[in-house]
Amino acid sequence: MDDCIFCKIIRGEIPSGRVLEDDDFIAIHDINPKAPVHLLVMPREHLASLNDIGCWTGERAQKLLEFTVAVARAAGIGESGYRVISNVGRDAGQEVDHLHLHVLGGERLGGLL
Ligand code: AMP
Ligand code: ZN
Repeated sequence: MDDCIFCKIIRGEIPSGRVLEDDDFIAIHDINPKAPVHLLVMPREHLASLNDIGCWTGERAQKLLEFTVAVARAAGIGESGYRVISNVGRDAGQEVDHLHLHVLGGERLGGLL
């Protein structure tokens, strides 16, 4: 997508702090961290949100989750604990319409859940 900020990051047109990447997914540091560790995991393929994941195979969805676990481990929070969040749509406050998972940790997390 030409005007998608995360697609621009994936193409290297906008700088980002890349934590981990493979052929299908990348993880970057969130530019406005809400916790000591706040990473964003996203597929290279543009999907607007989890609502569109029906076009994926189950294997691809599993790979996204396994990649997310690997990202948490690489960031050193695999054992201390972390939270994975994906905002979908207006009421969740989704700002960037490119599917992404927030990975938060590095302290005891408060919040709704
Ligand atoms: P969401 O509200 O779930 O759509 O989250 C979008 C996230 O993207 C926010 O936490 C932003 O801080 C983050 N973000 C926006 N632009 C950038 C950027 N250029 N690099 C890294 N993170 C970004
Ligand atoms: Zn995109």
